[in-house]
Amino acid sequence: MQLTVQPPAVGPEAILGRQAARESAARTYARSLPIVPVRARGMTVEGADGRRYLDCLSGAGALALGHNHPVVLQAIRQVLDSGAPLHILDLATPVKDEFTTELFASLPPEFARDARIQFCGPAGTDAVEAALKLVRTATGRSGLLAFTGAYHGMTAGALAAGGDTAARAGLGGTVQQPVRLPFPFDYRCPFGVGGEEGARISARWAASLLADPQGGVEQPAGMIVEPVQGEGGVIPAPDAWLREMRRITGVHGIPLIVDEVQTGVGRTGAFWAVQHSGVIPDVMVVSKAVGGSLPLAAIVYRSELDVWAPGAHAGTFRGNQLAMAAGTATLRFVRKERLAERAAVLGERMLARLRALRCLLPAMGDVRGRGLMLGVELVDPRADADRLGARPAAPVLAAAVREEALRRGLIVELGGRHDSVVRLLPPLTMTDEQSEAVLERFGEAVHAASAAHREPLAESGDRKPAGARPSQEPSENAAGGAW
Ligand code: PMP
Repeated sequence: MQLTVQPPAVGPEAILGRQAARESAARTYARSLPIVPVRARGMTVEGADGRRYLDCLSGAGALALGHNHPVVLQAIRQVLDSGAPLHILDLATPVKDEFTTELFASLPPEFARDARIQFCGPAGTDAVEAALKLVRTATGRSGLLAFTGAYHGMTAGALAAGGDTAARAGLGGTVQQPVRLPFPFDYRCPFGVGGEEGARISARWAASLLADPQGGVEQPAGMIVEPVQGEGGVIPAPDAWLREMRRITGVHGIPLIVDEVQTGVGRTGAFWAVQHSGVIPDVMVVSKAVGGSLPLAAIVYRSELDVWAPGAHAGTFRGNQLAMAAGTATLRFVRKERLAERAAVLGERMLARLRALRCLLPAMGDVRGRGLMLGVELVDPRADADRLGARPAAPVLAAAVREEALRRGLIVELGGRHDSVVRLLPPLTMTDEQSEAVLERFGEAVHAASAAHREPLAESGDRKPAGARPSQEPSENAAGGAW
């Protein structure tokens, strides 16, 4: 008997239906963005239904130059046409040599001068694991200092360093927990003071904990920090605070790991976000945009730390030549076209416009960010504000804004403590006209969602955000009535 396989229906609805039936319950973006992209160029994504979207997610920040940028495509084609191997473990190749040269040229010179690079498995999270392993090997210590609200990836060590307790529930008790320090957060200051004073107290807490012989904290192997927390809700670390973290870790001989996975390659208005503060880390974690839209991840670190054994962080896929070529082209284009400066200017302008919009739309509780890494925290405008002016997070409303935005042809994602921060991560190549269109569609989306939506007060708990994990809901008024 001959088995005939029917060709599947190819319409977007059929494809989405099969995805829902066949893919894991853990799928993420696919749930909130039910579209079937078939073409993409720059900031525009076209769905199978012919609809076009402005993409403010940019592959979770991986697309510094947007989709299919000509210099990236050309670099990829060149490798393909050259007959070079595509997969070559971690052997030396001209393509890799060029990538490393361009990457080192982009780093702060004091750092690059004495740096080593380790290519990792092609995800940010693997590079984070490598960074943790490196500092543990180099110091002979095991503890870690990490921050509230942090996100470093989804493998065991990276999850432990992150602040999302629900996300690591599946790990059981297998992973050593870091010592958790408070990340400065103006809008929801853990010390209830905000501003410079909040950041100063946060730094003082870290300093006193490490200096206190009875503070209960073993000398750790390292401190890991994001210069701007991305998944945690777009929270920039104040420059003075980051410098203080550098000073404190220096005093105690603790390697400082800066996770630039999301902030790197011009995103925040400097080529690397540490350049805002002038901090020179001991280890820098890079991924996302360094691969020019293809998978690539690495750590760059001071040579003094390079004491691990051959094969200490091995992996099959550490030599993706297409990603290295695409990455070289991207790094070079960002440098030559001064796209970090462009991101700074455009980001400032968008922040100002969003803050103006906030005066008209009270559901926009806070507007923050740096460069083209922007966040708008949605709040319940009917609830009381705390003494710093923050209202309870509004995750249901935020999800509705995302949906209304998509309806208007704008792709955005959520993040933040209660999934109530709309994050804007447009490509650095966004035009003025595109940024205007983003602002217009976003404003309309917030307006429509606020009008249609009556967020339950956090205390009432009578409606739950669709698909949210229980822990994502504000079980307690996030504004902290307890003060
Ligand atoms: N660190 C940071 C700061 C990130 O934003 C991310 C991803 N969002 C990661 C690490 C993990 O990268 P990946 O998803 O490629 O594992």
